[in-house]
Amino acid sequence: MRSDHSTGKAVTTRWYRLCSLKAGTGCCSLFTLTAVQELPSLYDALPEPPVLLGLGTNLVGSDKTEQKSVLRLAASGDFAQIRPVGKGCFEIGCAWPLSRLLTRMAGQGWGGLSALAGIPGTLGGALAMNAGAMGRQISQFVNHIRGWDWSTGQEWQWEKSTGGWGYRQSPLPATVLALYATVQFQQAEPHTERELLQAEWLRRRSVTPGGASAGSVFCNPEHAPPAGLLLEQAGCKGLSAGVFAVSQQHANWIVNCSRQPGRAQDCMALVEEMRTRVQKRFAIDLRCEWRWAD
Ligand SMILES: Cc1cc2nc3c(=O)[nH]c(=O)nc-3n(C[C@H](O)[C@H](O)[C@H](O)COP(=O)(O)OP(=O)(O)OC[C@H]3O[C@@H](n4cnc5c(N)ncnc54)[C@H](O)[C@@H]3O)c2cc1C
Repeated sequence: MRSDHSTGKAVTTRWYRLCSLKAGTGCCSLFTLTAVQELPSLYDALPEPPVLLGLGTNLVGSDKTEQKSVLRLAASGDFAQIRPVGKGCFEIGCAWPLSRLLTRMAGQGWGGLSALAGIPGTLGGALAMNAGAMGRQISQFVNHIRGWDWSTGQEWQWEKSTGGWGYRQSPLPATVLALYATVQFQQAEPHTERELLQAEWLRRRSVTPGGASAGSVFCNPEHAPPAGLLLEQAGCKGLSAGVFAVSQQHANWIVNCSRQPGRAQDCMALVEEMRTRVQKRFAIDLRCEWRWAD
């Protein structure tokens, strides 16, 4: 693998530095894309598709010594643009941290997405995960996505009429890097919209367990009680492996209270133990919400 192409040198780092949960002791080669024009040369240079990274708030790293390539969008320049394309409609670079974006838009008199305030991570990550809260998902506000497909080395586009969204499911194939998304906002009074954002942040703060984490571990199953309740009744609160433990506050939440680096392997073992307990007690297969580097 060349490391001196136009995208700049790959930086060797450890996975735990890239994931909010601090999971993954192995090394990886981190590339930061600063412009769309760099994609063809990077595509030629990488032997296999890279792991796509936003802010790592829903991702567990790897312990392996094999050094995978990881690609993220630069937080300034091309992928931090906000371009008006219609009334209340903006084409936005996918490097934008979602919460910061909502604050910026509120200041300019655009709102309607306050239910998503406080979800950590980038717009790109939100699109890949169909991030949501309080009965709203990012998919409800997206009209168009432009990306790059690592399986073909070609541009990739998504239109609203194509659909493909579901609960924590996205039409973005795993090989597609989302670059820009067209998002629909509603006109809003800046002060009122900021208050809505603030109220949502405060609500979140009151229900989010302390410590490093990666959000809810499992999706809520259909036609069944919420995953948190099933996990609690299956006796998962307090289970631990390495630096990771199931929160005493919320059984669908793994925390790393020490904020020290931990092994992805421990995390995986804990997740499997939780899944197995619910399967044995309720015969329900929980689907993990997180993405894994391996
Ligand atoms: C404290 C806390 C609270 C959370 N609360 C919520 C919540 O309320 N609702 C919710 O839905 N989630 C929640 N999450 C999970 C997480 O924040 C979201 O899923 C977020 O959208 C992930 O964004 P990210 O940039 O961190 O993505 P990452 O974690 O970096 O990546 C997640 C996935 O997205 C892919 N990806 C990232 N960027 C791109 C891109 N540009 N193009 C293509 N694929 C990409 C990655 O390959 C990976 O598969 C929470 C997490 C934490 C830590």
